Amino acid sequence: MEINIERLYKDVEDLGKIGFEENVGVTRLSYSSEYDKGVDLVRNLMESAGLKTYIDPVGNLIGRLEGKSDKAISIGSHLDSVPAGGIFDGTLGVLAGIECVRVLQENGYKNHHPIEVIGFTEEEGNVVGGTFGSKCFTGVPIEESSIPKMEQHGLDMNSVNMARRDPEKYKCYLELHIEQGGVLDNTTTPIGVVNGIVGITRYRATVNGMANHAGSTPMNLRDDALVKTCKMITRLMEIAHLKDEEITCTVGQMTVLPGAVNVIPGKVEFIIELRGKSISANEEIIEQFYEEFRNEGLILKNILSQKETVLDERIIKTIEDCCKEMNIAYRKMYSGAGHDAINMALFTPSAMMFIPSIGGISHSIVEKSLPKDIAIGCQLLLNSIVKLDK
Ligand SMILES: [Zn+2]
Repeated sequence: MEINIERLYKDVEDLGKIGFEENVGVTRLSYSSEYDKGVDLVRNLMESAGLKTYIDPVGNLIGRLEGKSDKAISIGSHLDSVPAGGIFDGTLGVLAGIECVRVLQENGYKNHHPIEVIGFTEEEGNVVGGTFGSKCFTGVPIEESSIPKMEQHGLDMNSVNMARRDPEKYKCYLELHIEQGGVLDNTTTPIGVVNGIVGITRYRATVNGMANHAGSTPMNLRDDALVKTCKMITRLMEIAHLKDEEITCTVGQMTVLPGAVNVIPGKVEFIIELRGKSISANEEIIEQFYEEFRNEGLILKNILSQKETVLDERIIKTIEDCCKEMNIAYRKMYSGAGHDAINMALFTPSAMMFIPSIGGISHSIVEKSLPKDIAIGCQLLLNSIVKLDK
């Protein structure tokens, strides 16, 4: 059974026109009229593919093909975009799922398990909160801060509770997604088999020095908090890189105090963000960093520990077997970005596969994945479904 890339790519382009603005990108925020138009298009595609469709009380679109067993194989991703985003992020996983169903139907394939293609709403989180749709679907608690935003769109806790599904009715979840990073493109690898989604650790760092007159204090008599900070951050990056080449370490926010051109910085505050295969691996870096600089005025306070997501080993193995049978190169990797699979993994055995993002760029109008890579990704999805259906 072979997928039809022309047909799939046309669907990606057609959906990509909804909410598209020249030189800007796609803006299809959840609960907007553009979003609804996008859902209509996808719903029609689902129905033409023989799926029975349903929009749940929070706006997730579900298309279902019945089977003999009562445990469904679910496939999906999200249909919303960031403001001025690209046309592949999220949409690919949903449209590829529909293409797989079309191919199964055309070939008269009798699926044992029901197949559900899910277009989650509000994954990007710019309207209500990140991965809101899949949280509701799986019963993962939503953030307190989401509630007033929900109400603006006519949703309440009742809608949230009613969207919750029964995990007993699912066998597994598969998500095909663009990588959104440059690893696959840079190594010309067509497929990433995702081990898990990184754990995120954030610390607020404070470095104390002594504020003083910038003119009358000679260089050897200064305790400049920013000069110390620069040294510390350079070393932090080294520690992180030496510990684990796959960990990402970022300092993206900094405040220099008192913040005057003619005053030696007396205090610097910055946020350290680490993303790695486990939050304990992140903590090891922080411990070593603190050990090296505790005597130089460094104070650290943890502000976020978001646990890593471990994806299902058996499904990962199935996907790897399919790659080998298809004779395509793949790379096992962690996802540095969050996905609906984070919630789905708590609900049913889940796995993800990535295809290359050209130049590693996404959430942008220049986001691009090549038809040949999309074809490999969708074929791998199809072959994995068939293997899991056995
Ligand atoms: Zn996405």
